[in-house]
Amino acid sequence: TSEHQYYQKLKQSLVTDPLTGFMNRSGFTDAFGITLDTTRFNHKYAALLLVDIDNLQNVNDSRGVKEGDTLILKVSDVLKQFQKESVQIFRYGDDEFALVISNFDSTDSLINFVDCIFEAFQIKQIGVSGGVSIFPEHSEQQEELIRFADMAVHYAKKNGKNNFVYFELDMQRVFIQHLQLQTKMTTAILESNFKQYYQPQFDIRTSQLRGFEALIRWTDTELGDIAPSVFIPLAEETGLIIAIGRWVLKTAISTLKTWQEKYDFKGIMSVNVSPVQLRQDNFIPELKELITVYQIDPSLLEIEITEGIMIHNMNDTIEKLKDVKNLGLRVSLDDFGTGYSSLSYLQMLPLNTLKIDKSFINNITSSDGIQANITSSIINMVEKMGLETIAEGVEHPEQLDLLNKFNCNVVQGFLCGKPMPFALCDAYLSGDKGAMLKNSKEL
Ligand code: C2E
Ligand code: CA
Ligand code: CA
Repeated sequence: TSEHQYYQKLKQSLVTDPLTGFMNRSGFTDAFGITLDTTRFNHKYAALLLVDIDNLQNVNDSRGVKEGDTLILKVSDVLKQFQKESVQIFRYGDDEFALVISNFDSTDSLINFVDCIFEAFQIKQIGVSGGVSIFPEHSEQQEELIRFADMAVHYAKKNGKNNFVYFELDMQRVFIQHLQLQTKMTTAILESNFKQYYQPQFDIRTSQLRGFEALIRWTDTELGDIAPSVFIPLAEETGLIIAIGRWVLKTAISTLKTWQEKYDFKGIMSVNVSPVQLRQDNFIPELKELITVYQIDPSLLEIEITEGIMIHNMNDTIEKLKDVKNLGLRVSLDDFGTGYSSLSYLQMLPLNTLKIDKSFINNITSSDGIQANITSSIINMVEKMGLETIAEGVEHPEQLDLLNKFNCNVVQGFLCGKPMPFALCDAYLSGDKGAMLKNSKEL
């Protein structure tokens, strides 16, 4: 009857993605379940392939949604070539497609087929990241297969994108570890279990204290000390960095205020700010409020950003940094030399300071070595741009001598002072000059 046809059509439209014509996510679960039942019954192999478009968000942001749709359609065209009864395709999310591939006699033939799909994207020069889970090799459970394919996509993205990754059991172990760390981190935020250490920076020429860099520390009762290089990236991935970063800024500003009041401290407090944090809409208002509440001199507060900040939205980043500067703060570029630094980018950023990464400083053993030459040229160039240079990770007196010769302005490293807890820095500022070196061995 026409009524029946009408409802069929309506049902169809509810499960169809209007842009690509593929079934949408609500059609996926049933179809995948049925395929797995059939595959089990026929003793065959099946796979779930999740294909995630790299940088769709970027295209949407910079070139508009229309261009974004064009990219989605290009991806969908590539996938359509592979569509047949045993290859069902779904628009799984905004930038994600799911392929249910079945009726294969072996894992090898399945893998060959999936590799062909990736090659088709390579030929068209479309960047996609894929994750694959295989039935029954990885699991026989639908939910688990979805989770595993998802984990594999995650790895593909982390691996620099534009690749396909097959699930491995080890990924689940790492995933569980991360989950555990994430739970502990959430508790640590709620219970304020983080500490802040401060590493001194010195003017090379005058040996005067230039200021401190605030560095976070976390000791878990069960796991012991957890390095920031382990938990900060995870915090960035999960968004927990927002709460952590808020605590970091507040603590650093409060310490700066204490020292300004107690010792008339005129040094700089430098704080690491993650790109995720900076991207938040309320980053600037919150910063402004902290400065007002603590009544600090903003010119003695510096934020450290990394080159990673430019990967996302360049214009947005530049605007944000200009806002930071308008509040009167200093801006420093951290880990210079490790990322995608290009001179044209550098000139666009409103910077005061550039920190040369310790990997450069490590190898400047003699003034005629290649590393020394590079470092000296960087310092020269930075000076010409009117920026201050800080050398990071200075551990040996010879490095200090060379940096002095190269006209580097400031040094930071174990040689002059390790990161220390508040009490030690406080003692140092109160006049106990030995406080820093006396204890540096244990830190
Ligand atoms: P970073 O910003 O480059 O910080 C400098 C790192 O080098 C610190 O490691 C410091 O302890 C270490 N270091 C200093 N001098 C020397 C030296 O002479 N030799 C060697 N080998 N290392 C030296 P740490 O504290 O483990 O921090 C690692 C990274 O974690 C930091 O690198 C930064 O990217 C991140 N991080 C630390 N604290 C925070 C924070 O409060 N917020 C954010 N967003 N990131 C943070
Ligand atoms: Ca830093
Ligand atoms: Ca650094």
